[in-house]
Amino acid sequence: MMKSGARGSLVAVMLALLAVGALFAAGHATPAVHARSAAAGASDPRLKGAYRFEDGGWIYAHLEGTPEQVGFQHGYLLAAEITDALGAVRLDSVYRTHRSWKFFRDTASSLLWPHIDEEYHKELTAIADGVNAHEAAAHPLDVWDIVALNAFEEVPDYYVPLLDAKERRPVPPLAAAPGNCSAFVATGSYTKDHRIVMAHNNWTSYWAGQRWRIIFDIVPAAGHRIFMDGFPGVITSDDDFGVNDAGIMVTETTITQFHGFDVNGKPEFARSRKAMQYAASIDDYVRIMLDGNNGGYANDWLIGDNNTGEIAQFELGLVNHRVWRTRDGYYVGSNFPSDPKVTREETRFNPKDAESSPNARHARWLQLMAQHKGNIGVDEAAQFISDHYDTVLKRQAPSERTLCGHVDGVSRGIPEWAWGAYYPGGAVQGKAMDSTMAGAMSFRARIGHPCGTDFASKPFLAEHKEYAWQMPILSDMKSGPWTTFHAGQQPAR
Ligand SMILES: [Zn+2]
Repeated sequence: MMKSGARGSLVAVMLALLAVGALFAAGHATPAVHARSAAAGASDPRLKGAYRFEDGGWIYAHLEGTPEQVGFQHGYLLAAEITDALGAVRLDSVYRTHRSWKFFRDTASSLLWPHIDEEYHKELTAIADGVNAHEAAAHPLDVWDIVALNAFEEVPDYYVPLLDAKERRPVPPLAAAPGNCSAFVATGSYTKDHRIVMAHNNWTSYWAGQRWRIIFDIVPAAGHRIFMDGFPGVITSDDDFGVNDAGIMVTETTITQFHGFDVNGKPEFARSRKAMQYAASIDDYVRIMLDGNNGGYANDWLIGDNNTGEIAQFELGLVNHRVWRTRDGYYVGSNFPSDPKVTREETRFNPKDAESSPNARHARWLQLMAQHKGNIGVDEAAQFISDHYDTVLKRQAPSERTLCGHVDGVSRGIPEWAWGAYYPGGAVQGKAMDSTMAGAMSFRARIGHPCGTDFASKPFLAEHKEYAWQMPILSDMKSGPWTTFHAGQQPAR
């Protein structure tokens, strides 16, 4: 896969990574930071009202107040997890793009920062402050690390390929728009109670999925309360599943083989957070996402308005976008673009290849929606995202073609996303909610493969030396039980 000319620089990158990996590998194995919860920062008044606890393999973080408070609480409560996640993202981004971490920090400060709202400047700065207050003596990080971390979906895989082309550098074979997730939203005659049901499973590299285990309950001083899953240190959900207290339910799947990025636009992570915080209708959501659209992390958004029972699919390219909406029907997502213009002008996606991961899963979604019409509730939703039916083989066989994805056992890989043979990636966690749950700001979530299968890293890495570069960041991915969370939840006593 690697061209011989790139091999020299790859060796250099790997040597650099070994040094980087050594820095945080110990932190990943033993989160020493967390043990020091009685550090000086614990008495900081900015922590008032914040707390965390663990349940079902997830970490629940309740944050409240001004941007400075929410950010500081986020950084402080999740200091160990943020330090670990930053190290992992750094290793992966540097390895895949052949760009230094300095490049990502410089991109954060010069290119992203000027296009981020003041409210999130404050929150991002405070996240770095919170981490450092917890861990002052260890490896201090700064706001550029945090901004680069927040952009870990849009910069390596959307901006870098564009920049490489502009600078006439060979585009690294591993930098490609990701294909994250299987999701649906249904309403009206499709669901048991004729109200909205929504579910999503996150597809990523297993190393990322192992860390995508935060349940955020955020009560910001301005805007709506947000209840969502998320990644340590990132201000938006980023795999995007959540609900706000205005009744807006949101999820998405990415658009496979998308290309395009506007350096003068607002970062996707800031827009998606703002939309979650300030949208009280589908129109609001679309308007906020379109304002300063930079094309990064281009998604098909699935949105529900729990006040009206209306649902929408919002396909957001850089040049084109389209919104479909209904009060009786469904929209499904498995990383395929729907609008022919988006497909043709902004992707290299082949809608006719029935055997590709997005199209095979799309076919399965259509089967499930037809079979379960009128009977879809949250139990069914959880089953759908755990489904292993392969529409090509016409039998149960977990792989890259099933809604619950398991690519580590598949020699085909997923070439559209630059996932090679046996790539350690797939469905890493799942969430489901119906309208009743959404009204109570609640959802059901399962960490690990939504089907409950565990992934063991040691035998995998022993068998697949080509992924040895992930050794410092890839550990076992164990599935937890389906667990129900809600906003304002307190730890069990
Ligand atoms: Zn599975």
